[in-house]
Amino acid sequence: MNQNDHLRATLAKIAEVASAAIEIGEDFENYEHKEGEESEQASQEDTPACVLKSLPKRLLVKAAETARTINPVNAPVFGPLASVAAGLEINEPLRLAVLTAKYWGPKPRTLTISFMESTPADLKTRIISHMNAWTKTGCISFVGTNGTGDIRISREPGGYWSYLGTDVLLIPKNRPTMNLQGFTMRTPESEYKRVVHHETGHTLGFPHEHMRKDLVARIDPAKAYKWFLETYGWDRATVDSQVLTPLDEASLMGTPADQTSIMCYQLPRVITKDGKPITGGTDINQTDYMFAGKIYPKPGYVTAAQEEDWAESEDVEVAV
Ligand SMILES: [Zn+2]
Repeated sequence: MNQNDHLRATLAKIAEVASAAIEIGEDFENYEHKEGEESEQASQEDTPACVLKSLPKRLLVKAAETARTINPVNAPVFGPLASVAAGLEINEPLRLAVLTAKYWGPKPRTLTISFMESTPADLKTRIISHMNAWTKTGCISFVGTNGTGDIRISREPGGYWSYLGTDVLLIPKNRPTMNLQGFTMRTPESEYKRVVHHETGHTLGFPHEHMRKDLVARIDPAKAYKWFLETYGWDRATVDSQVLTPLDEASLMGTPADQTSIMCYQLPRVITKDGKPITGGTDINQTDYMFAGKIYPKPGYVTAAQEEDWAESEDVEVAV
């Protein structure tokens, strides 16, 4: 396969994954996790049943424009892929939309939270306080509102999901942007950390960490198809789009692949090539906090790359 054929195949894959992700987004509304059903899968009951929710296809280009307006850094990376794509029969704006990140801007921002169903005050407070775990290093914070929030949380059936970053702006106001099925005050604290922190990560624009190239490379596709079908009833297209398609590393501003990231699925050793599990994250880890601090720098949070500043009067005149 020459380089052009390879890029052509890659672009076709991107288009396929984009449409599959949309179909999954729709199907997932009818999906309910069968809790603790098979004993042999009991060890997987902690696996996040999270499928990143996608916008309808017709809104993908608009969503990319919105993302770039909110944060110019979200513009897709142009490289060999983009130049070769010019002659291909793939809808160019759609392709770019798929490659566009959805991060909010680096300026401090408060996003308001409302709840779709009648929700006790203590439960609202507990969920919002866990969402704000990210503010330890990040400048995006969350506050409850009695009106209609920027982020709208439902606790109805449908599993755990969120839209990605600035995509939430395109969701009709009468619909949720995040689902936390069945969360109550009796839900263990560990589940708040594992699920609420993870879904809030998606709301901040963070994709799934297990789709990083280095982690996808560890998975045996044949075993993965079998296991996800048996465990979650996922078909091949779902496994392809949610597990086996690596993220475009060029579009990431992230750290090296990190299997203990809160954004990483827990995956069993039976589907890996090396026979070792992908451990998955149970809470926001140090790398996650560092990444949030880099993307959303909190005033006063010092990063290694931070510039040193002084009074303008001290500037040195350079004779040329
Ligand atoms: Zn997720």
